[in-house]
Amino acid sequence: MRRAILLSLLIASQLLRAELPPFVEKLAPNVWAGGWGAKEEAVNVVWYVSGGRTYLIGDQATAVDTAAISALTGKPVDSSRTGQPGVEVIAPGVYFLKTARILFAGDLITNGPRSAIQPDIFVWLAQLDKLSALQPLKVVPGKGSWTGPGAIGRQRRFVREIFRQVAFGIAMERPLASIQSELLIPASHLVWMPYDTPSPEDVTAVYRQLTAPVAPIWRTPTPGKKQALVLIGDRFHDPEHFLDTLRPVIESTGVETQFIVDYRALTRENLARVDLLIILRDGMVWPAGPQGAQRIWMTPAQEQAVEDFVVKDGKAFLNLHNSMGIYPEGGKYLRLVGGRYIGHGPLERYHVEVSDPTHPIAQGVTNWFAADEQHTPPADIPVKVFLTNRSPDGKVKANAGWTHEPGKGRVCHFAPGHTRESLLHPMFQRTLRNAVEWCLRRR
Ligand SMILES: [Zn+2]
Repeated sequence: MRRAILLSLLIASQLLRAELPPFVEKLAPNVWAGGWGAKEEAVNVVWYVSGGRTYLIGDQATAVDTAAISALTGKPVDSSRTGQPGVEVIAPGVYFLKTARILFAGDLITNGPRSAIQPDIFVWLAQLDKLSALQPLKVVPGKGSWTGPGAIGRQRRFVREIFRQVAFGIAMERPLASIQSELLIPASHLVWMPYDTPSPEDVTAVYRQLTAPVAPIWRTPTPGKKQALVLIGDRFHDPEHFLDTLRPVIESTGVETQFIVDYRALTRENLARVDLLIILRDGMVWPAGPQGAQRIWMTPAQEQAVEDFVVKDGKAFLNLHNSMGIYPEGGKYLRLVGGRYIGHGPLERYHVEVSDPTHPIAQGVTNWFAADEQHTPPADIPVKVFLTNRSPDGKVKANAGWTHEPGKGRVCHFAPGHTRESLLHPMFQRTLRNAVEWCLRRR
């Protein structure tokens, strides 16, 4: 009898010592979130009951007092960390409770403290898209307050904004210190501002992954898939535009992309890993900012590497919009493209017209118009023009698309593509898709 009293006293004292996280909320039948305050960076865990047992998810699960949890749920805690029932593992540390539609987002979403900058921004954005497609009812971030599914879109806007500002600075060749001091994230992209305002270290982390030698971050290619290196962005062409406009079209052909904003990543070594080079940027950088001096970035070694990539290695180059503008005059690069930039008209609506309906890139393409810059590059060598443009008054007509096959490879120039309106036009997108396929000899 005395033993039994002692034993129950012991159990009671253990229960009294058992502590839950300071913040606990039942989010759905059989599902709870628990979190700590700021001193531990406001981390969270989730626990749920399934089949008579309690399961814990989240990096901090090992820090939780399991006795307290089982006292709350009335079911013993199962400490197995894999194969938990009713849970889909979306990414390392990211879990979706399918029945309750509750997402534990780990490091992919932070809702309050500073975001943990993920090692590959492009993968981070793709993962956020995947989380959005799950259509969760509630989101428990790894850190910060749990909330509704709107957290996914806000995190996405934050990631794109930090990408946009850092990538634009890199495309201009601005020094890291300038990018750090000029970064300004809109308040609506933040939660506990200013405590989640990115630090200089966060900017450095993004800068490193977007500049050589880290960039491009080579993701393991899917066997059998063609690879494209895509160099985007300059002072007048914000890199962010091309994530929404070029990327889905190129990838819809089954090609895997490595986007870069740092021209220094255009090297012979990087070209050797891909089948297709795409450039949408001019030849200038502005290291001292828009008021400072500009300079041409392309080196003779880069010109030679691009020429060899096409002519000797039999690969392809898709030259978009302004990618003949302000490149080394009379150099191998412009000779390879086959023409010259001589300026462009004002931003206005103009006509884009199929001049050779038999050309493989013109298949399914009909005349269109869009607001864009009317580029008017003359060709310096015999090329096959498949597209022309015409000003609204009809006075200016010029080449808008051509191909030729230097050496063993293929080259296509396609001139529209300044505005978002133009880039998103269905005929622009059709032409771009056809051009990628022609470059890869599928047409
Ligand atoms: Zn432009």
